[in-house]
Amino acid sequence: MKTQRLIDMHVHTDNSPDGVHSPMYVCENAVKNNLGAIAFTDHCEVDTYYKDKYNSMVFHSYFECSKARAAFRGQLLVLLGLEIGQPLSVPELADKIVSEKSYDFILGSIHTPKGFGGMDIKEIEYDKIDVYKFMSEYFSELSEIASWKGCDCLSHITAPMRRIEGKYHMNFDYSLIQNDVDNLLKEVIRNGKAIEINTSGLRQPIGKTMPDETLIKRYRELGGTKITVGSDAHTAQDVGKGITDGIKLAKKCGFQKLTFYVKREPIEVEIII
Ligand SMILES: [Zn+2]
Ligand SMILES: [Zn+2]
Repeated sequence: MKTQRLIDMHVHTDNSPDGVHSPMYVCENAVKNNLGAIAFTDHCEVDTYYKDKYNSMVFHSYFECSKARAAFRGQLLVLLGLEIGQPLSVPELADKIVSEKSYDFILGSIHTPKGFGGMDIKEIEYDKIDVYKFMSEYFSELSEIASWKGCDCLSHITAPMRRIEGKYHMNFDYSLIQNDVDNLLKEVIRNGKAIEINTSGLRQPIGKTMPDETLIKRYRELGGTKITVGSDAHTAQDVGKGITDGIKLAKKCGFQKLTFYVKREPIEVEIII
């Protein structure tokens, strides 16, 4: 009987400001958790690249993760990547960062949306703003990143929901901004990019993946084919968490294949669970 090869395409190490464990220790846990492959995607926030010393963290991430890759060869496929936040805040810098090293996989993210003075999506007081207007602008900012050649996949496209639904307990109805949702998903498809099923929400009060079933189904309906699954682990213990649930959800939404990336080229794996 064939078993599903579990691949976690979003993992942080202690080379991210909020990451806890070394690449070696993360790999050890990944093997223990029966993973076949992981992608290290440490943070790189382009808007505060020098101020917050991402230049040094990105360098060390690549160096340390390469060592872990060599040490675990034959046991675990280790992919080298980055999670680039706000790449279009300084596009020429973002282009330089992703082309400087031989990366396997680049995630594009927004953590500090435009118009909030650098405030993180975790800190915004959603009960004091128009959340529909906010999400409409957030999706439009993400669709610009979808057309940026430097990334392969958009990460956690509904990340603000962690707070909007998980903390402020507001029910968000995507159909009220259906045009914005569709524009984003179509832009992803048109540019040949992937979207990520981020399973970190399953370990948090929101209790569901980002995006959730509604948007994953819509992406499939519109013709989306490339989908990755990532735990967004910031500790070794969380590596691989929720990956099986994410794969099952992809299948439920009509996907027959998952995508992972080697040297920035998409590779498809059949879903067999
Ligand atoms: Zn992120
Ligand atoms: Zn992340």
